[in-house]
Formats: sequence, structure tokens, C-alpha cells
Amino acid sequence: MGLNRRRFLRWGLGAAAATPFGAKLLAQNATPKPASPAEASASAVEHVGCLADTTLCIGCRKCEEACNRRNKLPRPEVPFTDRTVFRQERRPVDKAFTVVNEYAGAPSPDQAATKQTYAKVQCLHCLTPSCVSACIVGAMVKAPDGAVVYNPKICLGCRYCMVACPFQIPAFEYDVTLDPRIRKCEFCASFANGTGADPACAAACPTEALVFGKRAALLALAKDRIEKRPDRYVNRIYGENEVGGTSWLYLTGRTGTEIGLIDLPSSPPAKQTESIQHGIFKYGIIPITVFGALGAVMWFNQRKADTNAKSAGPDKDAKKDGAHE
Ligand code: SF4
Ligand code: SF4
Ligand code: SF4
Repeated sequence: MGLNRRRFLRWGLGAAAATPFGAKLLAQNATPKPASPAEASASAVEHVGCLADTTLCIGCRKCEEACNRRNKLPRPEVPFTDRTVFRQERRPVDKAFTVVNEYAGAPSPDQAATKQTYAKVQCLHCLTPSCVSACIVGAMVKAPDGAVVYNPKICLGCRYCMVACPFQIPAFEYDVTLDPRIRKCEFCASFANGTGADPACAAACPTEALVFGKRAALLALAKDRIEKRPDRYVNRIYGENEVGGTSWLYLTGRTGTEIGLIDLPSSPPAKQTESIQHGIFKYGIIPITVFGALGAVMWFNQRKADTNAKSAGPDKDAKKDGAHE
């Protein structure tokens, strides 16, 4: 007999209630959702941010190294002093939350003697983050200070956030068997912890190409630099308006697309993601069904992973633990 709607709903509800993942999902659905990205963006005036001035960056990769240490990521196979990494354009991955890329040509018209331009890439901590609105369980959250942070404890591993991000930032731990996480820059989450410390990358930058502060103050600083040096800077601050604005801002002497900054509209794609996700949540029975099905699949996958890990012996677990030391 085919799987009719009633049976599917019953199976979904049963699975939702019976499996650990389903229970987690149902609990999440019953929990008040965090403020929507649109609501969060309303308080953007208090958000912190970082201004990256590509005309000052020398490609030393100290920011990459500092990020690696602060986040206790595995040491890379190629040392941070090795400039051969610049032979190809890189993106942040699960073991490197930020990377610096090199582009041929001077950083600005008045720096003709300099033959390369460098640009750092990481999560831009959007004011209206698509990753947050795409996450059905609230594992991605826009903190009041502006940092977009991740909670691995409630993440389902669905990777919707990866698909939703217009900057292609969230990375998945594909080589981790048990409980793989999404990994990305969390702005060092120092503000969320109340320490007030600068993000590691900004603190390590020897040329002050990275300046940390309140986003509003950084915008004023960037505009001041453009006004004082029109010969150096393009009259545009990348991140001021892109996808509704971002907490990381870029000041450049060249067109953004020449140095890896993706050309994006000012309207946030999060609004569309939000309406789709919120549409799904409009009638309670649908999420329960979807969650039940998802829960059953996740529970099955988890059991399979557990069985594989047991048959592989203790080395697998040791490898996983060691990977983030
Ligand atoms: S850049 Fe991507 S991962 Fe970062 S906050 Fe924006 S949508 Fe989320
Ligand atoms: S803010 Fe922290 S996590 Fe983000 S790139 Fe800088 S050092 Fe890495
Ligand atoms: S530490 Fe500063 S100068 Fe060095 S690569 Fe990073 S942003 Fe550029």
C-alpha cells in the first residue's frame, strides 16, 4: 500500500516523538525563536564591525595565523609564511575561517609601484543574515552586538545556511564522522562573551589594514578616508549596503569585483528565505511532519555513524578529538 498522507503524518509524528533528533526538533519548534534578522538589523547602529582597507594590506597572513590560534584550528600543512598559497584564489573552509587572496595589479592608482593587491575573506556578519533566517532550528543567531554565532548543540547538519549565504562562507566538516559541525568566523565572539577584546585578526594586523569598532564609527572613518584621499579610494564602501549591509566593511582602491568582492544587490536575500521558512511554519502540522521525517533520517544516520565508529575502534574518536586541538 502506498504511503498516503495520513500514514505519512502519523509516521512523522511518531518519528518526531520517538527519536532523539525528532524530540530535539520538536523542542526547538516549541521554543521561542530568536529575533528575526529583519528585527536584528533594526539595532544595527550598536553593532560592532571591522573595516578592511585593502590599500594597506601587505598579504603577510598574520591575520590568518591569529585566527587559526584563537579558534584552535589545526595547523595548516603549508606554513603561514609560505606565499605559494597565493597561486590560487582561496575561500574560507572548515579549518581556516579566514584567508587572504592576492590579485595582480596595484591596490590603488597612487600605489603604482606595488604590483599586487591583497584582500582578506571571512564571514561578513550581515545585518540581515540569510544563514540565520535559513536555519530552521535557530542554530545560527545574530547576537545583539552584531556577530553571527553558531550553536553546534542544536544544529541538524541540514546545511541550509551554506546554501543561503550569498558570500559562500559557512563550511561543513565533511571529514568528521560523528556530529560534524558548520564552521565559520564568529567574530571571535568576544563581544558576546563581554570581554571587549578585539578579534584576533584585527589585533594581529601590523599595518592597521583591519580596524575594529562600532560599525557606525567605521563607516564615518571610511568616508573620511575617501574624502581626504580621492586619488586613492574608490568612492564606495563595500558592505555599507550590500545585501542590506554587513558588519565587515571594505575600503578599496580598485573595483570590488577585481579583488574578489562579489557584486550583490542591496536588498537582503534573507527576506526571501525568511518568508519561505516562515510560510512553512505557518501551520504547525507541517513542521511536525517535516521534522518527524528529518528526525527519523538523522536518527538512522546517527545510528549508522555510531555503528561505523564502533567497528572502526577507538582511533576514529581520537582522530576527531585531535582535529580541533
Ligand atoms: S556572510 Fe554568510 S555566513 Fe556570514 S552572516 Fe552573512 S549570510 Fe551568514
Ligand atoms: S574575527 Fe576572529 S574568527 Fe573572524 S576572521 Fe577574525 S580572527 Fe578569525
Ligand atoms: S594581517 Fe593585515 S596586512 Fe597582514 S594579510 Fe592580514 S589584513 Fe593584510
